[in-house]
Amino acid sequence: MFCNQCEQTFHQTACVNSPGTCGKDQDIQSLQETLLYGLKGMAAYAHHARRLGKHDEEVSAFIEEALFATMTNVNFDLETLLGYCLQCGEMNLRVMQMLDAAHVETFGKPAPTMVTEGTRAGPGILVTGHDLLDLWQLLQQVEGTDIKVYTHGEMLPAHMYERFREHPNLAGHYGGAWQDQKKEFAAFPGPVVGTTNCVLIPPESYRGRLFTTNAVAVPGGTRLASGDFGPVIEAARTAEPCAEHVVRTSTVGFHRSVLLEQAPAIVEAVKAGKISRFFVIGGCDGAEKGRNYFTDYAQATPPDSFILTLGCGKFRIRDHDYGEHLDLPRLMDMGQCNDAYGAIAVALALAEAFDCGVNDLPLTLVISWFEQKAVAVLLTLLHLGVKGITLGPQPPAFVSPNVFKVLQERYDLRLTGSDATADLRVAVGT
Ligand code: SF4
Ligand code: SF4
Repeated sequence: MFCNQCEQTFHQTACVNSPGTCGKDQDIQSLQETLLYGLKGMAAYAHHARRLGKHDEEVSAFIEEALFATMTNVNFDLETLLGYCLQCGEMNLRVMQMLDAAHVETFGKPAPTMVTEGTRAGPGILVTGHDLLDLWQLLQQVEGTDIKVYTHGEMLPAHMYERFREHPNLAGHYGGAWQDQKKEFAAFPGPVVGTTNCVLIPPESYRGRLFTTNAVAVPGGTRLASGDFGPVIEAARTAEPCAEHVVRTSTVGFHRSVLLEQAPAIVEAVKAGKISRFFVIGGCDGAEKGRNYFTDYAQATPPDSFILTLGCGKFRIRDHDYGEHLDLPRLMDMGQCNDAYGAIAVALALAEAFDCGVNDLPLTLVISWFEQKAVAVLLTLLHLGVKGITLGPQPPAFVSPNVFKVLQERYDLRLTGSDATADLRVAVGT
């Protein structure tokens, strides 16, 4: 364990042996950190929702109480802290639901949408991160000009919303997941706007044309806190224009509302044995080699199954042709990481239609995690009692062996193995 949060920390450095000076052991420290990280992830989603005019007083009150529970000499009880973690998952579900509603109300009805990937000739601005309001404000400010705006990374799902679909300056998508941004931003000639987490400290090559918004700030970048994108637009005017270089087209926009419209047909198809299983494969992406597990897993899914993906984990699996089944693409992109709410809503609707529990559905969740939003989403799934989730590519370092054992015993939480195909067979029971 490692704790340095109070004055009596061991040798004025940190309590690294369990228990620490106050008596807190590594399992309590582990649950406090899990709670703290879940709260951070939830706070990011809540911040986006608040910017769109929505907040939930009960969530805010919970954040205060849960933070209080992580202070020195407040709570040494494993079950209580585990309960707080699950409650964090419950609150995060409310927050993701609130954000989903805010996105639809503000930006219009989602629909499957074909997106052009690459660049078109002319001045361009690239927008990365998750904050759709930043993207919208920028689009409003370039309206009527010849400046084209492109999404990057987790901004890709913006294209599914009606108001973004119809905006003449939103020209397409450029690049992949966050970990590729140093290469991709260096190659993009215009200014780049980082709206949230998963922005990297820029190298010299594009430092002068990286802008960030609100809480986001990096050395060498220019932080904009007022919603005025004038400096970005000015930079687009003086930068070298983009070349005409279209790489491909792809389809996004299988939002929960789109899938739920198909629910009766999906239920009938499952009952008739025409759909063997649904896989949710997604979450975060990252640079580690082990993340090929998710690529292998997706490619091993049977041809009569569907893969729902979300988060930037999609970039790990979307470069493969999975074909169609029942006139629908087998791989369906549901949106950003916060659209995990959509996957949950679809699962709950199917469970209701089949009059069974979520764990009785032909559904397998394979979640790639990287940062604290993924912790919040995992806690939401555990709060809902979802069992048999596979998590990877590495176990969270802040989860102690004992706490992990508890999660395995109660939720059958699994870790990614070395053989994705073998794990898939275990998951589907063949
Ligand atoms: S809270 Fe406890 S474990 Fe942490 S630094 Fe203080 S005495 Fe050590
Ligand atoms: S899904 Fe996770 S890793 Fe990917 S951009 Fe979003 S927060 Fe970052």
